[in-house]
Formats: sequence, structure tokens, C-alpha cells
Amino acid sequence: MGRKNLRSDEPRPLNFYAATGGSRVETKQGVSYTLRRTMEGSSVYKCPGCNREIPSGEASWTVIKNDHILGEQAAIDERRHWHDSCWKAFR
Ligand SMILES: [Zn+2]
Repeated sequence: MGRKNLRSDEPRPLNFYAATGGSRVETKQGVSYTLRRTMEGSSVYKCPGCNREIPSGEASWTVIKNDHILGEQAAIDERRHWHDSCWKAFR
């Protein structure tokens, strides 16, 4: 009780979405991303790979940058949704 020196650099699992359905980590251009399958049915997202919309319900990847300079919440706020084929083509 009363401990003040809480550490912010505690190790945390890299795949923090693993408990919610599986995820994987990929590195492109030296940047590490966490990918999670999206199956949300309520919103339409635009894929940055082809600039076309991903119809709601269509399987896609939610891509979150790891080690975001502004922190994890910023990375989550900037998440993008990709078609599977577009993500594979992205270099
Ligand atoms: Zn696409």
C-alpha cells in the first residue's frame, strides 16, 4: 500500500487483442503492426490500399501500428481497415 513508484514500462503482451479473437504481428518497411480480423457489421470503412470502401460485414484486417510515438491510444485511434489482398500487396 502507498507505493508511489509505479512503473510504466512493465512488459505487456504484444498481441493485446489475442484474447478477443486472435491477432498477428507483421512488419512492413521496418514498422511493426498488429492485425486483427474485423467482422464488424455496423460501419463501412475505406481501405487505404485501394481507396475503396469495405462493405460492412466483409472480412478485413484492422491494422494498428505498434510502438506509436504518441502511445497506444493514438495508435488505436489511427487504426485502419484493409482488404486482405490490399494488405498483402502493401509494401
Ligand atoms: Zn482495398
